[in-house]
Amino acid sequence: MRRLQILFLLLVAVPAWAQTIAIRAGNVIDPARGTVAKNQIILVKDGKIAEVGPGVAIPNGSQVVDLSNEWVMPGIMDAHTHVTFVEAGHGIPLEEDYLLNGKGTRTLQGLRISQTLLNGGITTVRDVGNEGNYASVDLRNAINKGWFVGPTILTSGKIIAPFGGQAKHTPPDIGPFWRFEYIDADGPEEIRKAIRENIFYGADLIKLVADNGPYHYSEEEIRTAAYETHHANRALAVHVLGGEAARNVILGGADSIEHGWDLDDDLLRLMKEKGTYLAGTDFPGAHLESAEYRNAKKRAGDILDRLARAYKIGVKMAFSTDAVFELPGKTRVDMTWDYLAVWRAAGVPPAEILKAMTTNCAELLRIQNERGAIAAGQYGDIVAMPENPLDNVESLRKINFVMKNGAIVRSPK
Ligand SMILES: [Zn+2]
Repeated sequence: MRRLQILFLLLVAVPAWAQTIAIRAGNVIDPARGTVAKNQIILVKDGKIAEVGPGVAIPNGSQVVDLSNEWVMPGIMDAHTHVTFVEAGHGIPLEEDYLLNGKGTRTLQGLRISQTLLNGGITTVRDVGNEGNYASVDLRNAINKGWFVGPTILTSGKIIAPFGGQAKHTPPDIGPFWRFEYIDADGPEEIRKAIRENIFYGADLIKLVADNGPYHYSEEEIRTAAYETHHANRALAVHVLGGEAARNVILGGADSIEHGWDLDDDLLRLMKEKGTYLAGTDFPGAHLESAEYRNAKKRAGDILDRLARAYKIGVKMAFSTDAVFELPGKTRVDMTWDYLAVWRAAGVPPAEILKAMTTNCAELLRIQNERGAIAAGQYGDIVAMPENPLDNVESLRKINFVMKNGAIVRSPK
């Protein structure tokens, strides 16, 4: 009983107090430039970074954190997650999750997963749907109110898709049960309405699934979605694999392509030209194989090849996982770091991977003025590890200091 109480105390938010935290940082990485500044003092006050520099004076009464032997960088971000969703894999359709679990279960699931992510150093996540009936909105609000410690969550609310969502082979007698997670929208006017409805219920961004069936969104439909979304100061993320559907997504003005596993070089060049981000969800083959994903080996090969080509062509890339399976013995943090091997195998240097995990994600999420850098005026989202991730990016697995919104979540022993 006592242990439970202690656990509870650790998991609820500690209100930020006015005391200044002074971090003695041995090595501060600037992922936007791939540079390192030695022996910096970072002053954090009222949730934000007040000052950074080598000669910053530490005010009396500050709490001093000694990270002088550590490598310090902005909190890690994931541009494509589903914290309130666990996909069964093994050929089980994803609708099983929403037929068996209600919104309460989904919200608590999200709390469990998002706290695990934050503890591992992932301080911001973009939740791109499959979140029950706005379960991620409730979770985001609870964290923002300070009821619970958790990462910054930006959520898309329900996924907007052509009729049928991502459900498969449902007989007409059963009815459109997928609407627990999806909004059917066909044609510009229905898309416009779906976007407004989603924003009304709390969406921070809009996510479309463009090509999950034999039909896909037209360029006109995407253009309407982009117009409506941008006028509400939000970003448009679109699930699409490749081909004509992807061309429509790029030309229609989406901010990011999600997955894009079948993008050819012409489409990648078009993305570069238009400034479209790739949130590639570059799955490790072992994850797809453990979940018995269809054609796992071939898919892993496609993903690696596409990531290598996208990097070579110079497409803007935001680190993204889509880690939704439950893998034995692994948390979602362990699973997140498993993606590093794919990026390394694709020939992306550590500095570029770190940039994709911070600077680029922040730009895609439209929060670059608040998060993604260690600079005065930014929120205190800071992680640290005992080894240099610019030498070996796998050092991220050793993150032992995590701060979010200026509150220490985890400290080295
Ligand atoms: Zn996804």
